[in-house]
Amino acid sequence: MKQPKSSKLSIEGLRLMSICPLCSSKNTPTESKVIQTHGDASLVHLSCKKCEQKILVLFRLSAVGVHCVGIVTDLSHTDAKRLISDRILDVDDVLDVHEALNEEGFLMGIREQAYEGA
Ligand SMILES: [Zn+2]
Repeated sequence: MKQPKSSKLSIEGLRLMSICPLCSSKNTPTESKVIQTHGDASLVHLSCKKCEQKILVLFRLSAVGVHCVGIVTDLSHTDAKRLISDRILDVDDVLDVHEALNEEGFLMGIREQAYEGA
């Protein structure tokens, strides 16, 4: 009997998530929560209970197997979900940043705010 694609992704994904890529712990479970799923791809937040590192991993099922790409993060699951789901940047956002960076004193203002907050 042939497994459905989503089931195969789940099984392979669970196998990959059972070993922490940072401390290689096999016996300590990782906490995994799905942030977003789109078609054959899922973005999952992993938190190792041994080394306490957090990783965002993108799993994608293809004809040759499961591909995954991960990035170490300090975001909690809630923060990652909020940042990913809140909204998409558009061209106006990019233009606003470009204009702000060209304003005289913009970067100096950020530096001053950083020192005030320290
Ligand atoms: Zn670990």
